[in-house]
Amino acid sequence: MARANFARAAVLAVSLAMLALAPFSAPAADDPDVAAYRRAVEQRFAGWLQELWPDAEAAGVSRATFDANLKGLKLNWSLPHLVLPDPASPGGPALPRSLAQAMAPKHQPEFDAPVYYFKDGTLNALAATGRGKAAELRPTLAAIQKQYGVPASIVVAIWGRETGFGKIDAPYDAMSTIATQAFMGRRPDEFRPQLVAALKIVEEKHATRAQLKSSWAGAMGYTQFMPTDFEKYAVDFDGDGKRDIWNSIPDSLASTANSLKSQGWDGAKSWGYEVQLPQGFDCTLQGPDKARPIGEWMKLGIARVRGQAFPESKLGDSSFLVLPAGLKGPAFLATDNFSVLKLYNNSDVYAIFVGHVADMIATNAPVKFVGAWQPVERLPRDRIQRFQEVLVAQGHDVGKVDGLAGFKTRAAIGVAEKRLGLPLTCYPSQRLVDAVMKEASAARQ
Ligand code: CA
Repeated sequence: MARANFARAAVLAVSLAMLALAPFSAPAADDPDVAAYRRAVEQRFAGWLQELWPDAEAAGVSRATFDANLKGLKLNWSLPHLVLPDPASPGGPALPRSLAQAMAPKHQPEFDAPVYYFKDGTLNALAATGRGKAAELRPTLAAIQKQYGVPASIVVAIWGRETGFGKIDAPYDAMSTIATQAFMGRRPDEFRPQLVAALKIVEEKHATRAQLKSSWAGAMGYTQFMPTDFEKYAVDFDGDGKRDIWNSIPDSLASTANSLKSQGWDGAKSWGYEVQLPQGFDCTLQGPDKARPIGEWMKLGIARVRGQAFPESKLGDSSFLVLPAGLKGPAFLATDNFSVLKLYNNSDVYAIFVGHVADMIATNAPVKFVGAWQPVERLPRDRIQRFQEVLVAQGHDVGKVDGLAGFKTRAAIGVAEKRLGLPLTCYPSQRLVDAVMKEASAARQ
């Protein structure tokens, strides 16, 4: 699944508001320089597609399918975040400035504070519809739960989160979307196998080319499978002999459960619990690499919210602390199932969102977390990324230097805050960024 994650993660990395926007408008095609440039890129793209043949053939794609789907395929210039070649090809026309400007992101994406991800209205609406779907599909969901050990509520929550229960259209032709991403997207190496897998889907007649519609990141069907997810995890659950994630709800939901189970979902465990931390708790203890048994966390003063007890039989289970907004928001103890949800979509807030909506569906858990999302500053991703680079130079482990504040970055922030005598938050702030940058520039002199 690792190959599939990036696409969903990419979706999360941009602000949610951006997803609501129409596709980027295709720029000035009537400009002769732009037209010449685009023709040259398309020509290079056509040649590049042909170079995929050995991979496709090795995967069992016939020449007829290869040609029928890739010959004459056009780039989708309206996808966001393309990396335009300059020049168009060796010795070819340079990237026209007008096109570069038209295609540039309108503003630097911000690293969105978790609070924006958890709107009461959205959570309530998904949980209410989810309860209705869970009732309507009870026998199917019970059979899925029995076979894969994944709770119906989790599967329904993913369905709701990914496509609003199938209401969100997938507007793009998957083949040209994935080919464009593989040719001039930000992660070409990760999309190349997706293109071969998409050809295989058509080759094996799981879907027609016309049915292969996707998001701008190439994800398809009710629960947004990438083509390689289909290959590995799709199942026929309604018994018609076809694995149909495009039209069959039972197939889609069972395929999702199968992907979670195949990647380690443990049916005997929850995804996690909201918890309360004692005053002055050390937020650098967060993250999977600092896991310990639930009983050990209790000895450190951590308790479930609303006076609920941890299940007695789970006290020996390994769990880790998740503080998506550092000490400025709710706290969670997560199980290994949380990490499995992150394989579906590599984001802490995604996993919490799905787990929380599932709890709302299954147990009527309240929409509000007990911990309050306190106001946090919104810093541009490039600023966080530079900050991460400085932390790395100072010897911190921040995980991936990507402008996002994951576990390791949040813990490193806590260590830096302690060293600088700042209030402990484990969350990026302008004050800390300034202090660390100042410290680093002083060290250089
Ligand atoms: Ca089927």
